[in-house]
Amino acid sequence: MSVRVRFAPSPTGHLHIGGARTALYSYLFAKANNGKFILRIEDTDQERSKRDFEQSQIDDLKWCGLNYDEGPDKDGGYGPYRQSERLDTYKKYAHDLIESGHAYYCFCDEKRLEDLKTKAEANNEAPHYDRHCLKLDKSEIELKIKREFPFVVRFKVPEKTYSFNDHVRGDVAWPQDMVGDFILLRSNGLPTYNFCCVIDDHLMKISHVIRAEEHLNNTLRQLMIYEAIGAKTPEFAHCSLLVGKDRQKLSKRHGATSVSLYRQQNYLPDALMNYLLLLGWSHPEEKDIFDFKNLGTLFDLKRFSKSPALYDLEKLNYFNGQYMRSLGDDELLDYISISLKDEDNFISRTKDWKKKFCSLFKDKIQLPDEAIDKLELIFSTEQEDSEEMKEIMLWDTTIIMKSYLREKVFEMKDNDYLKPETIDTWLNHLKKELKIKGKPLFKGVRALLTGRSDGPDLKELLAITPSYIIKKRL
Ligand code: GLU
Repeated sequence: MSVRVRFAPSPTGHLHIGGARTALYSYLFAKANNGKFILRIEDTDQERSKRDFEQSQIDDLKWCGLNYDEGPDKDGGYGPYRQSERLDTYKKYAHDLIESGHAYYCFCDEKRLEDLKTKAEANNEAPHYDRHCLKLDKSEIELKIKREFPFVVRFKVPEKTYSFNDHVRGDVAWPQDMVGDFILLRSNGLPTYNFCCVIDDHLMKISHVIRAEEHLNNTLRQLMIYEAIGAKTPEFAHCSLLVGKDRQKLSKRHGATSVSLYRQQNYLPDALMNYLLLLGWSHPEEKDIFDFKNLGTLFDLKRFSKSPALYDLEKLNYFNGQYMRSLGDDELLDYISISLKDEDNFISRTKDWKKKFCSLFKDKIQLPDEAIDKLELIFSTEQEDSEEMKEIMLWDTTIIMKSYLREKVFEMKDNDYLKPETIDTWLNHLKKELKIKGKPLFKGVRALLTGRSDGPDLKELLAITPSYIIKKRL
């Protein structure tokens, strides 16, 4: 069997983090099995679907590195890949299902349906449609259609139980009577999700459907439709929900939920993907950071977890930091520069200076934006406002060292940088001649030259701090 997996977003918003995870799973599964990864746009909700959203989702998928083999702009012989361009196909299938007795026209108006619902609720019964229109005879139906009565096409739900084996959830079964006769085609001629999804998965020869757990109950309706059209069902994997710290389904109130926001904040796509991959799937060797693009057959459906996956921004940031640190010097510079492109103190420096800056701070930041504060640390002439700093500045040793260091630093040209050897010479002098050592020496020198009580490696920091800044501090 050739593996064909699809990602089927509705273009009613930007690509959601959960959608990106589903797409990633589908992509990796296709790759692991020499299969095809297909993008299908489910845009039959004409009011909410927007071409701009479709484009933004495609852009985000590409940014994530999830390149599809077939899609609206990449024909693979199973197109069109936009549901809005396949409406005739759905109509034909709906018609065939009516002919074969699996579906029927329903002319009931809103009012009747509402009344039915209210009655069912009052009697504590399931609000299923009462099959009123199933009883219409052929001539009545023809007459109503001729008179242009609005109608929907309803599926005639078989009186039997359904079950299937899910790759994540195991055996899933539903009792009879779970759903009433549901709509396949709306009165405006547009198909419902469950209907067109099945027709397309069938016609596009989809072998595996990987999607979120929230679709599990749709699967029941979809199994019925597969059976009615006489098609083989694909295999299913319903992945666990993404939840926030409050264990509720991940939503905007938990923070950024769309890929585009992470893109704007300059996250590394690979870090995001590696993190998302592990939300519901685990590496056979329990690794957390790995070359996920080349997992090969290591990516299988057995390693999915059933329990909800906690979406934790701090962990994502940690992943980003790790990925950032693995970049080569030039890549790291390009990456961090994204956030410093408007900073004069950065853009006016040499490439060598910039590289030193990046290497000094790469372990201290997780995202390029955090480098802005680090740059500020180098060029700020304001003394740190803390009790510790005030105390250090009052030590006798600090006061003594200040006059020595002032003298030395003021001998330097304004735009010179302190060399590590020079600092060593000064420290040796302070140790030998002034008998200052230990904390008073190191804390004091740092406080005087950097204006901070703490910070990264002193020599590396001073090697990129222009001496006119140190002069101002002194
Ligand atoms: N359009 C559906 C969604 O975005 C697709 C669900 C499915 O994968 O079947 O949720």
